[in-house]
Amino acid sequence: MISTRLLGTPTDSGSGGQRAVTMEKIASLCKRRGFVFQSSEVYGGLGSCWDYGPLGVELKRNITEAWWRDMITSREDMVGLDAAILMHPRVWEASGHLAGFTDPLVDCKVCKHRFRADQLTEPRCPDCGGELTESRNFNLMFKTFMGPVEDTASVVYLRPETAQGIFVNFQNVLNAARQKIPFGIGQIGKSFRNEITPGNFLFRTREFEQMEIEFFVKPGEDEMWHRYWKQTRFDWYLKYGIDRARLRLREHGADELAHYAKGCADVEYEFPFGWSELEGIANRGDFDLKQHAEFSGKDLSFFDEERRERFVPYVIEPSAGVGRPLLAFLVDAYDEEVVQDETRVVLRLDPRLAPVKAAVFPLMRKEGQPEKALAIRDLLKRHFAVAYDQAGAIGRRYRRQDEIGTPFGITVDHETMQNDTVTVRERDSMQQVRMPVERLVDELRARVTADRAGVVATAL
Ligand code: ATP
Repeated sequence: MISTRLLGTPTDSGSGGQRAVTMEKIASLCKRRGFVFQSSEVYGGLGSCWDYGPLGVELKRNITEAWWRDMITSREDMVGLDAAILMHPRVWEASGHLAGFTDPLVDCKVCKHRFRADQLTEPRCPDCGGELTESRNFNLMFKTFMGPVEDTASVVYLRPETAQGIFVNFQNVLNAARQKIPFGIGQIGKSFRNEITPGNFLFRTREFEQMEIEFFVKPGEDEMWHRYWKQTRFDWYLKYGIDRARLRLREHGADELAHYAKGCADVEYEFPFGWSELEGIANRGDFDLKQHAEFSGKDLSFFDEERRERFVPYVIEPSAGVGRPLLAFLVDAYDEEVVQDETRVVLRLDPRLAPVKAAVFPLMRKEGQPEKALAIRDLLKRHFAVAYDQAGAIGRRYRRQDEIGTPFGITVDHETMQNDTVTVRERDSMQQVRMPVERLVDELRARVTADRAGVVATAL
């Protein structure tokens, strides 16, 4: 069904309220607690490359799995793909990347720093005020060689987007998966861009992951499907808890559109450094399939059996990164509040995204409480990512879990040893209830998988 709801009017000013979050706080929390480390840090780091640590990798997997479940496996009109990063060099000729995937680059003649000409507001170097060179086009694709000989015939590129792997497999998937238009192919994978000015932590990196959909439709139905995907993708971020006031859909102006695109809109989030793109949703017309048909000499059209007509499908492309949404979920979830004269840092992540779903604590290190808590940890571990912590005061242990967004804290105490009940503390409200150990798995599952609104309404 095509949704007829309209996307709400974006609030350009954001929610207006003061936020505790800054990029410095997020970057420092990420490093301290093991979400994200700088790549090759022991060697001084490698520019704009990041490694996901034990908590980061769980968060990232939860995001990509949520996307995969919502966009692919729960739908009848979508299938998945995992294409190789290295592709035939002709792909990039056909797609236009070899000739046109460039940014205008200028150098400072004095300090030698490099900038994207289109991001400068002044005609001089922003770092030292020096004179800049003429702008020249710089191709963002990483080049390498396939095989032992480093000559022009063996040049291959690291893909700058996952999309082309989908286009060149269009006929394969159509035949193998017996799909009919309209249908889509989704893919999650690494992409590489030799960005001139990377920065803002995970926001702009040279190696990153994308979650992309190419949705193939009948020409004439493309605008309806474009509206549908803008709404669907916008709603997806809200479903996982992004503040509505900090999310907007920005339509591209005619001057921003690629020459073949019929329309494009970006889902943008208000980061501490301003409104920035999380995902682009473009109506690409029939450009991609036509280009690949021409360059490969293969027929990439679709034959509609019912109507007895052949056509080249139009494509709607919702194209998201993984790092940018991950950063938005972290920034949006970050909160500080004063509880009993102490500042509590809490990540109010949706429980489905939280890297650890529950932590188990023995109140005291005696009476067999640690052994009981470990047994509960082992029981839960078969179903969820859980942590165990017996070090320090219980309040400190709760705080450590609040800071990484663990939605539930389970405490084993004196009473547990008598009647096999535990207390379950909910992260956001800090309320506690007692419940029998035998109900824990079902209760946690219900609360961890529920829509966030449901979780709040039925807070423990
Ligand atoms: P920008 O204008 O910010 O460079 P873009 O419009 O070139 O982005 P697309 O080509 O539309 O980006 O890529 C789709 C998505 O892939 C982006 O919305 C973003 O989430 C992600 N992405 C693109 N480039 C990067 C990058 N250098 N680092 C991290 N994510 C990226």
